[in-house]
Amino acid sequence: MPEQVLGLINPGMSLIFAVGALILWLRDRGKRYLLGFVLAPLAIGVSLSINHFTPNPEALLPRVGMHTFSLLASISFAWAACTRLGKSTPLKTWLATAVFVGILNAIAVSVESFAASLFVVNAACGIVFVMAAQLLAQAGSRAIVDRVLVWLFALIAAQFFVRPVVVIMMEGAMTATEYRESVGYAILTASAAIMTLLLASAVLAAVLSDQIRDLQLRSQSDALTGLPLRRGFEERVERTLGESEEVETPLSLILADIDHFKQVNDIWGHQVGDRAIATFGELIARTIRNTDHAGRIGGEEFCVLVWDCTAREAEGLAERLRKSWAAMAHEGISEDVRLTASFGVTAINRGEGYARAFSRADQALYEAKEAGRDRVVVAGERRGRSVEPIHASGRDLEERVTSAA
Ligand code: GH3
Ligand code: MG
Ligand code: MG
Repeated sequence: MPEQVLGLINPGMSLIFAVGALILWLRDRGKRYLLGFVLAPLAIGVSLSINHFTPNPEALLPRVGMHTFSLLASISFAWAACTRLGKSTPLKTWLATAVFVGILNAIAVSVESFAASLFVVNAACGIVFVMAAQLLAQAGSRAIVDRVLVWLFALIAAQFFVRPVVVIMMEGAMTATEYRESVGYAILTASAAIMTLLLASAVLAAVLSDQIRDLQLRSQSDALTGLPLRRGFEERVERTLGESEEVETPLSLILADIDHFKQVNDIWGHQVGDRAIATFGELIARTIRNTDHAGRIGGEEFCVLVWDCTAREAEGLAERLRKSWAAMAHEGISEDVRLTASFGVTAINRGEGYARAFSRADQALYEAKEAGRDRVVVAGERRGRSVEPIHASGRDLEERVTSAA
């Protein structure tokens, strides 16, 4: 294959994938991680173009540029893939990796060892891919496309370690210019092209299948909140319970019910009530993680299945929801009135069905109502933990509601 054509294939392909990912993001802008799949191929394209077209690959600037863009591509790709499955590692970890690599690379460049520099940069990308493969495996998704992704990440991680060693063994000590003209380079560029193609295709397939699933879900969902209704939610819970058994992940259930909602309807009208329900649904949807499931299981009653979460952590999540909700003002409702909600929380025991866990959460919710509302009660902890209601919700709303009437 003529060298110039080879040089164009990867950047060209990268551009196609970047555009593909951009289109997917435009269809679903809520998913910011999709931008990582736009940035990654662009960065690969830039790095490969620098490598292929720079007149002097020995010079410091093209080398630093190439390495920086390779690493940027790996990090944004890994971050996007992990975030998609709810496994976002703090950006700090990725940045620390980048700084560490920068230092190693500076050493390699300063001792003018092309081989060392080549190895350091590839190994760094390899480490990023190993971390990503591990996180994706931990996410435990059983979808075929996700399993394929884990293996592709592992495979590509391996080639990052093997590739430079093979080049160095095949070609012996050489300069960057010699490397670029070597047979090994041609073979490895072609193999990188195939890898990139496979991985990018798998990612696009995964994202596309996410969007198709979202569309299906939306068609079964409640028009008011966009969340699945009781049946759809229960189906999802059953499926998730099976998955959690397989990967031994703790699950918890949060049941939430808006307090004194009948009076909201009575005083401010059904439309205002509807809007409040929608707001509560939105709050839940934006507070939970990608891997959690929420559903509107009754009029103003919601349930959240929290993935990889103990009862204590679920209590924290419910507390955050409770506080945010009680702090919100609502259109159409007197400025000085705040709505509140009560929460029942329980861990789902291993091997236990949804129905049993649900009835425990329901009992905890009942206790929260009995204890004065606007609070979180964990099943089996009778009075809940030291909850400080923002408002003495029950009586407060009753009084305000009465005075407004
Ligand atoms: P509690 O604090 O004990 O939960 O009191 P509550 O008044 O909220 O009591 P309950 O949960 O029994 O009442 C729920 C009310 O929510 C009854 C119904 O009128 C109202 N509701 C149910 N679905 C909708 C809906 O889709 N829109 C509106 N606006 N109201 C609804
Ligand atoms: Mg209620
Ligand atoms: Mg209710």
